[in-house]
Amino acid sequence: MSFASLGLSEPIVRAVSERGYTTPTPIQAQAIPAVLNGGDLLAGAQTGTGKTAGFTLPLLQRLTETPARKKGAIRALVLTPTRELAAQVEESVRHYGVHLPLKSMMMFGGVSINPQIGQLKRGVDILVATPGRLLDHVQQKTIDLSGVEILVLDEADRMLDMGFIRDIKKVLALLPKQRQNLLFSATFSDEIKALADGLLNKPAMIEV
Ligand code: AMP
Repeated sequence: MSFASLGLSEPIVRAVSERGYTTPTPIQAQAIPAVLNGGDLLAGAQTGTGKTAGFTLPLLQRLTETPARKKGAIRALVLTPTRELAAQVEESVRHYGVHLPLKSMMMFGGVSINPQIGQLKRGVDILVATPGRLLDHVQQKTIDLSGVEILVLDEADRMLDMGFIRDIKKVLALLPKQRQNLLFSATFSDEIKALADGLLNKPAMIEV
């Protein structure tokens, strides 16, 4: 099986092969067509399975296939539990999107907020953020989330373990109701199931 046969476009397939990947991992083989379909997704996947490319590749393609809902606004929001994961995911977005006209940004706390404000003003299509700093920007009114088309919760179980549920709910309340939602989690506690139930609309379900 090839990345092209999953329905990915030429600029994305080229970026993937430049990275040295030839064959999709099992989670990629399942997640990529599901996300390209435009529906919601509930995925059970550990790190190391290739889950990052599993959502970043089709997310990039969806953004190139659909017109922006709101000019200049953030179109995709990826929430991660830690700054390390945010950096890793954003690096993947940047690499896989190297041949596409989309701008990405990572955002986390513990660093000065002003450069982040500047970067947001210059325009961001895909934001990868930890919940706390994202809410700082919300409170300071330095971010507009009203154009978000795709939401990803990456390592949702870790976000809940770290006590981010209230922050996540505050962010969800600011997003347009009509959007695509992807939830990735390694484990499925009752709390995760409740979050997924409230968030996802008839999701495709995959587990690897
Ligand atoms: P992840 O589970 O997303 O953290 O990815 C785990 C590791 O697998 C990362 O180092 C990726 O660069 C690598 N990887 C992801 N997809 C593939 C693939 N299709 N072929 C080979 N390596 C991959």
